[in-house]
Amino acid sequence: MSKVLELSEKHALSVEKLTMAFPHDGQLLLALEGTTLEVKRGELVCVVGASGSGKSTLLNVLAGLDLPSSGRAHVHGRVALMFQEAALLPWLTAAGNVELALELRGVKAAHRRELAHELLRRVHLEGFEKRRPHELSGGMKQRVALARALAQDADVLLMDEPFAALDAITRDLLHEELERIWNESRLTILFVTHNAREAVRLGDRVLVFTSRPGRVAQEVKVELPRPRSLDSPELAVIAGRITDRLKHEMNSRGE
Ligand code: ADP
Ligand code: MG
Repeated sequence: MSKVLELSEKHALSVEKLTMAFPHDGQLLLALEGTTLEVKRGELVCVVGASGSGKSTLLNVLAGLDLPSSGRAHVHGRVALMFQEAALLPWLTAAGNVELALELRGVKAAHRRELAHELLRRVHLEGFEKRRPHELSGGMKQRVALARALAQDADVLLMDEPFAALDAITRDLLHEELERIWNESRLTILFVTHNAREAVRLGDRVLVFTSRPGRVAQEVKVELPRPRSLDSPELAVIAGRITDRLKHEMNSRGE
């Protein structure tokens, strides 16, 4: 097997010396500088960083929504995205939102309804198929967004603080849901958050970002058995160390 093939089979995404500069007040603002990271197939990796450390920029470049100033960011396979806002179409039902993703993927009309209902069942929304977004709670909307992401049959799911706006109990349930779906599928997930506990709750590895410009300051392998509890003392110890590192990063920039 060629070297290139070997690499592409092992890694679901790779970022190499990525730099992203935005024009700002007549100068260039560096959001990312020399960012390098890799995620293996089937891994669930969390990026944790302070606000403004370039996390969203990284995902936007990976998703192909932004072109990098220099360096490379590559996803092997199909990408789906999930944001803090569910961004559902308000005039479509929960099922309709999922069906649209299936339609865009080229699924035949005859199969869409059934498949959408099955995907909504997978995120525990049976019985809510006909509700419109304004009739759903924040957590339910994110469940629909997750079903819609699954409908895209992606290889890699990029998640940008998807649960940041939810209350603690709902977030807890969605962590369980996401972990279960990840276990059942062969999905690779890159999950971005500013919350160290959430990162340790979910990640096989946690990549701790520097403050702007963002790059990986530290990699933490999380070896705690799954499912993990956000409230466990073991998790708190690891998250505490990560938070200290984030504070150190912010202080060294004088913030
Ligand atoms: P995070 O997601 O970690 O909070 P972002 O990636 O959103 O950080 O932003 C990193 C920095 O880049 C911030 O200072 C932000 O203001 C700046 N930035 C992000 N996108 C743009 C853009 N399109 N134009 C100009 N500046 C941007
Ligand atoms: Mg962001």
